[in-house]
Amino acid sequence: MTRPIREIKVTNTLSGKKEILETRVPGKLSMYSCGPTVYNFIHIGNLRAALVADQFFRYFKKVGYDVTFVRNFTDVDDKIIKKANEEKLTSDEIAKRYIIEVEKDYALAGLHEPTHKTKVTEHMPEIIGMIEKIIANGKAYVAEKSAGEEGYEVLFSISSFEGYGKLSHKNIDDLVAGHRVEVSEKKHNPLDFTLWKPAKPGEPSWDSPWGKGRPGWHIECSAMAGKWLGDQMDLHHGGEDLVFPHHENEIAQSEACTGHAPYVKYWLHSAFLNMGKEKMSKSLGNVLGARDFLVRFGTEFTRYLLLSVHYRSIIDFGDEAIEHTLIALHRIYEAKAKALQISQLKMAMPDLRAESAWGSFMSECEAVRREMDDHFANDFNTAGAVASLFTLIRSFNRTLAEPRASATPSAILGAQELIKVMEMDLGDVLGIGRGNPEKMLADLERIKAERATASGTLRMTEDEIKAAIQARADARKAKDFAQGDRIRKDLESKGVMIKDSPQGTAWEYI
Ligand SMILES: [Zn+2]
Repeated sequence: MTRPIREIKVTNTLSGKKEILETRVPGKLSMYSCGPTVYNFIHIGNLRAALVADQFFRYFKKVGYDVTFVRNFTDVDDKIIKKANEEKLTSDEIAKRYIIEVEKDYALAGLHEPTHKTKVTEHMPEIIGMIEKIIANGKAYVAEKSAGEEGYEVLFSISSFEGYGKLSHKNIDDLVAGHRVEVSEKKHNPLDFTLWKPAKPGEPSWDSPWGKGRPGWHIECSAMAGKWLGDQMDLHHGGEDLVFPHHENEIAQSEACTGHAPYVKYWLHSAFLNMGKEKMSKSLGNVLGARDFLVRFGTEFTRYLLLSVHYRSIIDFGDEAIEHTLIALHRIYEAKAKALQISQLKMAMPDLRAESAWGSFMSECEAVRREMDDHFANDFNTAGAVASLFTLIRSFNRTLAEPRASATPSAILGAQELIKVMEMDLGDVLGIGRGNPEKMLADLERIKAERATASGTLRMTEDEIKAAIQARADARKAKDFAQGDRIRKDLESKGVMIKDSPQGTAWEYI
């Protein structure tokens, strides 16, 4: 017997609207989420994207979908090669090292294992096969060989693909007019993008019909998704910075290759994280490492901070968000501690005088359970689901305060029910509310104390911070990047965030 799958609405970037999710095969759901390029530790913004995909995956499973979820590692990329050259290692060694580190962060953050974890280096035959097909279909071309190059570049021909721009809602002519692309004689159209690039000396390369070379970034995701999910999939997720050109190009390549449209039925994009009013990004230098945060604040704290805000809303990362999370988790775990204590009471005779109070609490639990599920089904309104739990906690505390209500058999049932709502209805999807209250409350106290210390007399002075920034600049000038990184991490652990720009290094307390 197939379970009926409940109605879920998602905001589809393709249509720009909230739509009812109808998977291609009833009861089955295929999804892909773009993972990180593995050349460094991930930052908290990358972690947010991974957690959002994890939340989708958990919820779809919970309501009964048979989900096939593919998450990738981009292990062939210019940034990896650059890092490898800096460290005098191979790009394979760099990629392997950071895949291990990212996996550690994912485990620390409590991510569920996807159905398939893919790597570009394991999909070269698929990538080459796809490019050959796109060329055969007349949608890509082999460019002229430049002097000194070992192989040929293959480019996707934008003008051959009707509908380019449909995801990002961009007009090709506007794009061409406003696009600052490097001048290349090889390109028929300035927006044409690389499917295969010829090898340069010292770079990793693979044999292909176009000589030694390596794939462009966009084709990698199309090929990995195609191998594990087929020509078409239900849902594709990524950070909103990937809408253009990455996802736009994925659509063009996949549809040009297979002839099947749409490549993806529902495109879901998660928002950025702001640090000090600016988008957190490696290029701005204002990133906070996911590892540092997870170790300092713990799994549930991180999940609450990153998931209690709707996935399409920007999170302003800073003091306020941390304070808010401290208060919220404290409220949840104080109630859970009380509920646990009561649920362990041994009692034989029901106290009928208290029945009615707990009776209405029990029906409220049922209502909240439905309400939470409605929130999740409504484009993952996690803020709404969390608010429902707080309403229930207030009722629990109120009922407990009623005369004769605290130590009764019905109270035991009420307490058990509250714990279930926390651990299963909220916890199954968000991974919040499942902790041990004693440990969680102690952790929250520790975080509070550390923050009080950091903002009190032991806070680093401006002179100390400036001296540390200078020491870091000196280390970097001497190409001692490891020492530079250590100084930055040390500052972060003392509550100081630094930001590099062409004008120098700025800092602020976090
Ligand atoms: Zn991708």
